[in-house]
Amino acid sequence: MHEHASARQAVETMIRSRDLEGLLRHAETIHGHRCPLLALGVKAGQYAMDYLDQENTGMEEVVAIVECNNCFTDGIQVVTGCTFGNNALIYKDLGKTAVTVARRQDGAAVRLVVPANFRERLFARYPAAGPLFEKVVVQRQGTPEDLHRFHHLWEAVARRELEEVDLSEQFLMETCTIQLPAFARILATEVCERCGEGVMESRIRVQAGQKVCLACAGEEYYLLTGQGIGCSREI
Ligand SMILES: [Zn+2]
Ligand SMILES: [Zn+2]
Repeated sequence: MHEHASARQAVETMIRSRDLEGLLRHAETIHGHRCPLLALGVKAGQYAMDYLDQENTGMEEVVAIVECNNCFTDGIQVVTGCTFGNNALIYKDLGKTAVTVARRQDGAAVRLVVPANFRERLFARYPAAGPLFEKVVVQRQGTPEDLHRFHHLWEAVARRELEEVDLSEQFLMETCTIQLPAFARILATEVCERCGEGVMESRIRVQAGQKVCLACAGEEYYLLTGQGIGCSREI
């Protein structure tokens, strides 16, 4: 057997050598900016992957269960290699900045959760950040200059949280063994008899003797947006 070169190897190497800055730069390419919660996701992912000592080739060797859809989750996806697209990312819509990373082989897992008073502690460490965050992010009322200042400050906060603050100050951590869900199923594709588009067979409904997709059937389906998971008939 021989090794296949993969771009993922660069990430695995950064995990093993604890190159947090390299991992954060990588995460920035999909997240679009550098921020403290992205840095925390990178750190949590690096810690978990190092602890589990399991290389991930995107074939569900490692599974990440996230409990939020915020910046943290992108750091987790990039570092663990468990993504929305490779079915190794499980999303529990609990609204907690928390992740459990598990090794499929034996269910060994580590859970990291940001403490409840995380935001207050963060703003206590960086007093200038609080009011600016409130104005620019929460109220969405910053001027272009405020926005520019905020980005600089937020990047500096991210860098310090990445390199200087100890992981034990940022997370509550526990190791555990979990029952992993079954591997993702590979299903056949059917053709919707109304729109003609290919549809995974589990998402086909029969209406008036016709096989139709959920959209054409006017049925509810699950939708993940910035609000979390909900049911919808249309966006
Ligand atoms: Zn972010
Ligand atoms: Zn259709």
